[in-house]
Amino acid sequence: MDISVKIAITAPNGVVHEHDIAVLNKGYERVAEIGLSIEESKGLLLKLQHEIVAAQTKAFCVVRSTCPCCAGRLRRKGSKHVQYRTVFGDITVDSPRFYHCKCHAGSAKTFSPLTELLPDHVAPEMLWLETKWASLVSFGVTVGLLKDVLPIGARLNAETLRRHLARVAMRMEDELADERYSFIETNAYDREHLPAPEGPITVGLDGGYVRSREKGQSHFEVTVGKSIPTDRQDRYLGLVQSHDEKPKRRLHDILKDQGWQENQQVTFMTGGGDTVIKIALDMAPASEHLLDWFHVTMRLTVMQQYVKGLAHLSPDEAEDMSRALRQIKGYLWNGNLTDGLVAINDLIMDLDDIETDYASIKALRKTAAEFQTYIANNAWMIPNYAERRRYGERVSTGFVESTVNTVVGKRFCKCQQMRWSKTGAHLMLQTRTRTLDGTLRTKFQQWYPGMKPEGEQKMAA
Ligand SMILES: [Zn+2]
Repeated sequence: MDISVKIAITAPNGVVHEHDIAVLNKGYERVAEIGLSIEESKGLLLKLQHEIVAAQTKAFCVVRSTCPCCAGRLRRKGSKHVQYRTVFGDITVDSPRFYHCKCHAGSAKTFSPLTELLPDHVAPEMLWLETKWASLVSFGVTVGLLKDVLPIGARLNAETLRRHLARVAMRMEDELADERYSFIETNAYDREHLPAPEGPITVGLDGGYVRSREKGQSHFEVTVGKSIPTDRQDRYLGLVQSHDEKPKRRLHDILKDQGWQENQQVTFMTGGGDTVIKIALDMAPASEHLLDWFHVTMRLTVMQQYVKGLAHLSPDEAEDMSRALRQIKGYLWNGNLTDGLVAINDLIMDLDDIETDYASIKALRKTAAEFQTYIANNAWMIPNYAERRRYGERVSTGFVESTVNTVVGKRFCKCQQMRWSKTGAHLMLQTRTRTLDGTLRTKFQQWYPGMKPEGEQKMAA
């Protein structure tokens, strides 16, 4: 059967333009012929987009072709073609040029209306779609995915995507205001007179590593965070500390976005480590700094793994060590540092005395010694976790998967040979964190008024 597709566009002056889009010759005897194929849909979308964009740009230029002061018709000085890159294909648009009206003196003699309408020749939704997917999977995979389902221009490649993503991230970077030493702006009196705040916010901050493409360096550190308010949506934070000049501003802006006010409680949870803690200092007046329980248990689990290995050769000693580790965990969980540190010290002495052929005994001794230092250095941040839990307060930000794994892991391919420049990684972290917490589209809506929220495009029946 023949299926003809036509489009009717009513211009602002009421004139209806009808165009034939395509005639599809479709069979109906085999399953593969039922419905539109991907290729047919791409062809249709490309032609539809062409007609729609042509009608809209024409309407825009008609309005701009009369003088806004005297309503006189402007003299046309030829036209040229411009490319407009959209999700539904690269569209060539006719872009007329007009002389300015003689009734007022301007600096330029002529102007092209479409330069105002389409300043960067890429549709906002195209830029958003590219940025979103390239933040989740590699540039190459993104190109393949988009070209599979959409009539995207053939010129799209991984390098264009990289440039577009960097452009989006740079625009967000440019919007960041100055860095400050302290972000506390109120005094105790002011804070008493603030409206009652929302529930407490928990901010988890942690460090991870990304493979470096820079000479003489195998890895560099990235800092990631997750801000978890009681009543609002979570937000992610990501930065390359040795590259970023505004880490505190970044965190401050996220808290502000979440409606935080200075009399609202913020709990900062870190895995210890000065660089990460520094970001959160002088950030919020009503704040506390806690060692994330996730990091304590991670280290204890590593030691239990070693002890499991030891059990094959020295079962009795392993049994004792395992019990000691459980006891240490219990002390720390209850915030009992005195007994906890004594128990860690006893464990270290027992490990020194043990005679075994276990190959990893040295590694276990080292891990235990590091754990002792870790707990001693971060003692000021160890609360009574058990009590917090009883009161329904958070003891950790990483229950299932750490923030580092979520934000850095997959896209930065920790296990593969993907290498990053500090700038590239930092910019990627900006778009990736917004993609992950669902605020990338919101940012685009701020930049491009009229852009609809994701999935809320309404169609008349
Ligand atoms: Zn005029």
